[in-house]
Amino acid sequence: MNRISQISGEAWKNDPIYAPFYHATGFIMAAASDVLFEEVVVPFAKDHTSEVKMLESQKDWQAIAPNVFTGQFPGWRGAWRQRNAGWVFARGALLAVHQEASRLGAKFLTGSPEGDVESLLFNDTKSEVLGARTADGKEHRASLTILAAGAGCDALIDFKKQLRPTAWTLAHIPLEVAEAIHYKGIPVPYNVERGFFIEPNEITRELKICDEHPGYCNFIRDADTGEILSSKPFARNQIPLESESRIRQLLRDTMPQLADRQFSFARICWDADTVDRIFLIDHHPEYASLVLACGGSGHGVNPMPAIGQLVADLLEQKMEPKLKAMSRWRPEQAEQRNWEDSQGRHGANETVMDFKNVKGWTRIHES
Ligand SMILES: Cc1cc2nc3c(=O)[nH]c(=O)nc-3n(C[C@H](O)[C@H](O)[C@H](O)COP(=O)(O)OP(=O)(O)OC[C@H]3O[C@@H](n4cnc5c(N)ncnc54)[C@H](O)[C@@H]3O)c2cc1C
Repeated sequence: MNRISQISGEAWKNDPIYAPFYHATGFIMAAASDVLFEEVVVPFAKDHTSEVKMLESQKDWQAIAPNVFTGQFPGWRGAWRQRNAGWVFARGALLAVHQEASRLGAKFLTGSPEGDVESLLFNDTKSEVLGARTADGKEHRASLTILAAGAGCDALIDFKKQLRPTAWTLAHIPLEVAEAIHYKGIPVPYNVERGFFIEPNEITRELKICDEHPGYCNFIRDADTGEILSSKPFARNQIPLESESRIRQLLRDTMPQLADRQFSFARICWDADTVDRIFLIDHHPEYASLVLACGGSGHGVNPMPAIGQLVADLLEQKMEPKLKAMSRWRPEQAEQRNWEDSQGRHGANETVMDFKNVKGWTRIHES
């Protein structure tokens, strides 16, 4: 992943398409327990020694932004990387890429039914992919099909358990004009057990907050044995009430002035976890005209500028051998897949949760 970060880091800083969306606010890797401080924060600090300031006490945290970080930060310790780190405005970058691709001649079909792929098209003997069929019944034929539908990929072709659609949860809180000024430019605190938030959106003045946990799945089980067979994504602009509680606790710890404010928006977002959390960018082994670009595994925005380049290199047969080996089609890894593996993630009760066990959901804008 280092090489991918290198390619994308260069683009976020210098490529005119991406650079406007990189906010070099700094980033704080943090934990609330001693174990995870040693396991995650200390190695992070060692990797960036010259750029890091350690945050050991409530005072250290509050000094970063006295009008904003007013909480007690109970048990929180962190490594604040002040240079060469921050966050990217994913929506802005996607729109800029869309605009540039359109300028270069790409045509987009979006929305439902015309942009909604129901199935891939195969030849009669099912030996070749010929394109895709959308929900409006149209067939889109192509000599080459690139499948990059995130967690939706799994419904279109058999990935042999390599992808696990897993969801995370986020909410927005709008700020007043005068208040937003104080929050502008705050570094991103990422507590591996509690979650993170990002400075307010410049236009809507909404603060984005995510609670941290190993993810939610919508497990499909064998009716007789109860064995997990897969996870099926669904859309919902609400979050489980338990997630709302975690988000509010994160706010109470850090910015209690916001802890009881109404959310303006919430959403479950899906990703596609591979067993080793590395991308899957390869030709399909059975269909020569099908290329796969998926497996975001929770970190697919940051390397966004590198992904297209990797796909192009794959097609031109010049992908760097190490990258090719690491992102290859690899079903052998998933044969004995533990669907409930937390994959090194923390927070909540440290286990992957099943949406079927969720007791209640937020009702934002419903009443
Ligand atoms: C709460 C949260 C926080 C995150 N934070 C970070 C972060 O800090 N840094 C980071 O790098 N990454 C982060 N990620 C992960 C990142 O968002 C994903 O890894 C990335 O979006 C995956 O990219 P993708 O293109 O593979 O899939 P997606 O972004 O999901 O794109 C797939 C697209 O395909 C479309 N699609 C799916 N099925 C179909 C179909 N049948 N027909 C037509 N279209 C279809 C979808 O609508 C979607 O537009 C976060 C994710 C979540 C949920």
